[in-house]
Amino acid sequence: MSVSFFVGLDLGGTEVKVGLCNQRGEVVWSDRRPSQAHLGQKAILEALAAAVDEALLEASAHPGEVAAIGLGTPGVVDPVSGIIRFPVANLGGWHGTDIVGFLRDRFDVPAVVENDANSAAWGEYCTGAGIGARTLLLATVGTGIGGGAVIDGELLRGPSGGAMELGHIILERSGRSCNCGLVGCVEAYAGGWGMAAEWGRRRDLDESPGVSQLVQAGIAGDALANQILDEGAHALGAGMMSALHLLNPDVVVIGGGIIDARPRQLELIESELRSRVLPKASADLKVVRAQHGNRAGWIGAAMCAEKYVRGGSEG
Ligand SMILES: [Zn+2]
Repeated sequence: MSVSFFVGLDLGGTEVKVGLCNQRGEVVWSDRRPSQAHLGQKAILEALAAAVDEALLEASAHPGEVAAIGLGTPGVVDPVSGIIRFPVANLGGWHGTDIVGFLRDRFDVPAVVENDANSAAWGEYCTGAGIGARTLLLATVGTGIGGGAVIDGELLRGPSGGAMELGHIILERSGRSCNCGLVGCVEAYAGGWGMAAEWGRRRDLDESPGVSQLVQAGIAGDALANQILDEGAHALGAGMMSALHLLNPDVVVIGGGIIDARPRQLELIESELRSRVLPKASADLKVVRAQHGNRAGWIGAAMCAEKYVRGGSEG
């Protein structure tokens, strides 16, 4: 059997991560480049195309062919058409973008697009910490809180692609304001932006500090920063308990930039959710750290492309 390669792309507000996997999900090559997101839709598309060009050039040095391209993007992706429906604020003009059509026309290979947390969940399920899971729940803790689920070998998307918004589970009915417009969401307590904003409020700062400032201050021993990070972990554990009672996963995978930087975050999330979850949802529960780290998005997108080519998805 000839070797097939899959290009994976992970689009973020500041950079595009790109890489190449074979059909077993083994990483052949990876790189990153600016996403040009502040310049709008056309610039983002060109940044993605340049990343694919680079991947195709790399692939040409190996025997085999690139079989498909997968992209993980923030926002809600229509599961049938692949059109971006509800993008996030830092990706200007991304709403309504037919990224699948763009990639297919430009490169003449099949292309698929998936929400980035879904991509990460799929990547961990196929080749990472969730291999063998029957029901996998993934949470990512970065600037925001991402969520994804794989149930009996299929991503849970919902008919309009809006399923598994873990960060917007309501923790406090009249709580902190969330970026999504609701109040009391888990993300406002446990997401990087929410914790950084709280750190600024408690220090009476006029402007909210950055997420990495908060995490670095915590690592350096700042008591208030650590208190807020700990509170965030407990909040996410409490919020995830609701997801455990809905889905009864056997594997919970937790990853993201804050988890990678601060292992205590994962310990506290796990102890919080284990202390609350009902026995009927905890009997076979494993809680594990995501294996793919900051490569989860593009590896997962490449594996979504692999699934598409195998015929297991409508894309
Ligand atoms: Zn929200």
